[in-house]
Amino acid sequence: MLARPGLVSFDYVRARTPGEVVQLLAEHGADARLMMGGTDLLVRIRDGAVRPRLVVDLKHLPGMRDILYQQQAGLTVGAAVTMNQLARHPAVVAHYPLLAQAANSVASYPLRNRATIGGNLCNASPCADTAPPSYVLAGRIVVHGSAGEQEVAIADFFRGPGQTVLQPGQFVTAIRFPPSPAAASGRYLKLGRNKAGDLAIVSVAVLGFPDASAPSGYRFRIALGAVAPVVLRVPAAEEWLAHHPPGAETFARAADLAAAAASPIDDVRASADYRRAMVRTLTRRGLNAVADTIAAPTGSA
Ligand SMILES: Cc1cc2nc3c(=O)[nH]c(=O)nc-3n(C[C@H](O)[C@H](O)[C@H](O)COP(=O)(O)OP(=O)(O)OC[C@H]3O[C@@H](n4cnc5c(N)ncnc54)[C@H](O)[C@@H]3O)c2cc1C
Repeated sequence: MLARPGLVSFDYVRARTPGEVVQLLAEHGADARLMMGGTDLLVRIRDGAVRPRLVVDLKHLPGMRDILYQQQAGLTVGAAVTMNQLARHPAVVAHYPLLAQAANSVASYPLRNRATIGGNLCNASPCADTAPPSYVLAGRIVVHGSAGEQEVAIADFFRGPGQTVLQPGQFVTAIRFPPSPAAASGRYLKLGRNKAGDLAIVSVAVLGFPDASAPSGYRFRIALGAVAPVVLRVPAAEEWLAHHPPGAETFARAADLAAAAASPIDDVRASADYRRAMVRTLTRRGLNAVADTIAAPTGSA
């Protein structure tokens, strides 16, 4: 007897144009599922969580696997760009290293060859590794549907675990990131149950940059993964950091504020108390690491 049900049969279409996807989704409705690398979808089909009659492969749509960088416009990452592509692309490594770190933290090398950034975000798991960096880098999701294309700020994209604002018939074609603030430095810290590649029990993305308009001379953005139904920014900690000089005491207080903002659950991978404690630890570590590499504000020594 099989321990698991195995893959049921379904029809498969490799879509060639966005129009073809719109038409297929209109024809098949909830019987159709979209697929990129399939590392989430095929597991769910195997486990019987979803039973599509049709799987529509989006990876071969024009531009879906492209990474474009322009100094003025920023970065556009096709939704079907894999984690390994993202982690190694010279422009991503040079200008958005936080995103490269997060992509490189996903599971194992073979899985990163299939897993895509679009699939990671559309799957809407609270522990998706590319989500916290996308928050602090002000990512925007490019959504295609019968009415054409629109952009949604990442902070408005998630509705809860497994839920996004995508309406029936809509799909994601790219993620756009504006130019990073000048002299910014970022860190992605992820805690899993092992170092061989595991889903995050807690993850923290920190971005810091000099900003003369902040009383402290710096601004920091902090996003927490896997400790709430959707990724959390921590405005209280960010405000605190903008008003107090960088240093051990300031960072410890900001880490306390981050831990207080988290609303983690107990599950098989960790207790809520442990998760909250680890938010504190990782936030403090992330702030220290960013502060060590951030440039001094203009005009200071
Ligand atoms: C062994 C293992 C380890 C893993 N480890 C990690 C990890 O460490 N970190 C992590 O974050 N994740 C991890 N994952 C989860 C998974 O690999 C990632 O979420 C991956 O990025 C999903 O991308 P994909 O291209 O395979 O998505 P798919 O499985 O193809 O799609 C995921 C979901 O998004 C929908 N979808 C896909 N593309 C679109 C689109 N363009 N528009 C709208 N909806 C779309 C699909 O219908 C599906 O519901 C792991 C999975 C496995 C099996």
